[in-house]
Amino acid sequence: MSFLFVSDHLALDFAATVAWRATDPEELLAGPGDFARWAVAAGVVDRLDTVTQDDLTRARALREAVYRLALAAGAEEPADPRDVTLVRRAAAHPPVRPALHDLGRVERRGGVTEVLATLATTASDLFGGPDRLLVRRCAGTPCTRLFVDRSRAGTRRWCDKRSCGSRVNAAAYRRRGGRSEQV
Ligand SMILES: [Zn+2]
Repeated sequence: MSFLFVSDHLALDFAATVAWRATDPEELLAGPGDFARWAVAAGVVDRLDTVTQDDLTRARALREAVYRLALAAGAEEPADPRDVTLVRRAAAHPPVRPALHDLGRVERRGGVTEVLATLATTASDLFGGPDRLLVRRCAGTPCTRLFVDRSRAGTRRWCDKRSCGSRVNAAAYRRRGGRSEQV
């Protein structure tokens, strides 16, 4: 299984590791190894060798806090203080530190605590700053991915135009009896 990174933000890509949240939730971090693979695919760390079941539980708890905070931020609703505390505590540890070796060659080493600290740090930057108001939910049903709308006009609707956008547009096209329309 491959992971998708379409949120324009690492913390929201992390939150998207549960797919189809509203209808038939699919846990993409099913085992400790999945979290290791995600962290490497996300570019957070070069390799993550030892991930225990407890680590996975910690990772999921942080992810769910990030997801709830993202929903609250996008809706301009108050945050759950427990989620805020969880993110703050995870970010209190040293994050993965990139070690530059040459042009185009950087080494990222760390364990689970460092990876979670990195994720919590990016989440803190997002939710603590003005971009929190740009968090949107994908308009494609039943997609539940979130993204940061950095479009100049603030009109981004899809997590990924090629999957959700084109699917929805194709459905709309069929509904209109094949008449094309600018979307
Ligand atoms: Zn989507």
